[in-house]
Amino acid sequence: MSHPLVGMELPDIREVLGPEQPAYRAKQVYEAIYRSQAPELIQITALPLRLREELASSHAVGLPEIARVYESVDDGTRRYLLRLEDGRTVETVLMPEGERDTICISSQVGCPVDCKFCMTALLGLERSLTPGEILGQVMLVCRENRLRRDGGRLNIVMMGQGEPLLNLSNVLKATRILLDPAGFALSPRRITISTAGIIPKIEELGRAPIRPKLAISLNASTEEMRRELMPITRKYHLKELLEVCRRYPLRPWEKLTFEYVLLKGVNDTDADARRVVKLLAHINCKLNLIALNPGPDIPFETPAPERVTAFQQIVRRSLPCFVRKPRGLDIYAACGQLKRST
Ligand code: SAH
Repeated sequence: MSHPLVGMELPDIREVLGPEQPAYRAKQVYEAIYRSQAPELIQITALPLRLREELASSHAVGLPEIARVYESVDDGTRRYLLRLEDGRTVETVLMPEGERDTICISSQVGCPVDCKFCMTALLGLERSLTPGEILGQVMLVCRENRLRRDGGRLNIVMMGQGEPLLNLSNVLKATRILLDPAGFALSPRRITISTAGIIPKIEELGRAPIRPKLAISLNASTEEMRRELMPITRKYHLKELLEVCRRYPLRPWEKLTFEYVLLKGVNDTDADARRVVKLLAHINCKLNLIALNPGPDIPFETPAPERVTAFQQIVRRSLPCFVRKPRGLDIYAACGQLKRST
């Protein structure tokens, strides 16, 4: 059994190496794994051969295994089905676009939040991912596609399977390594976490010194409608959610993002758009619209493109508002479609 090192921070690696090793050895291993992305421990030539051999006999870098890759013929999106150590599988999506690559990663296997328009909800929660499994998705997709992460090319969104704020400590540990200049060295502007609205965890996230940007799935224009579409609203009311968002400690360069899935005839009228504007007044934010990505067993329809545009036009008078393009629809890789389908 070889234990994975991916997901470990310096103190964890120090412990693995033992007290007889000088402290700089842990730093060498850390930088080799995250900054240089050594594929195998035996290749960390900064270490003496004996130490390398010893380490490689008990440990491994430990990236997940690729079970299958689905490639979209429409837009080059790739959906990875990854196999974890316990045999469970989870999904990661790479969306290349011109000068930019975006990797959408999962935080849990399945999801415990039962949003009525989302296919992942149909899986239920199997378990949360470890820091190494969260980070491993990024490292694996980068390695497979030889992605460059310099010059702000690479973006990470925690919008795959799962509710990341219900796995906050592991998500934050992975984030620290991704943002560490001696680690994966991404800019904090390049990582976004998305939540269905777990109020106490939003406050906890706001207190973390090193954290991703925050996106909130709004998806309704009234308390009652949100309770229907996202039953978690019964526990965490929309009114209080927006209050916490107003108080959220944004960094000087930062805006909140709200996401809104448009469901035909349900939450997509002009009146909804006007109510959304009112809800978001006094919050420094932008709104991303997503026309429903349909799926079997999802009892909603996608609005016509003209309806989406009309909704956007109304919101745009008051705040920045964008329409998110669906990516990888043909391979079930788009928002709300991650359900390990083959
Ligand atoms: N649990 C987190 C992370 C998942 S993000 C969250 O709820 O934010 C996934 C985004 O896709 C969310 O904004 C969600 O509202 C949206 N979404 C879910 N199902 C969808 C569907 N069928 N079509 C379009 N967007 C969907």
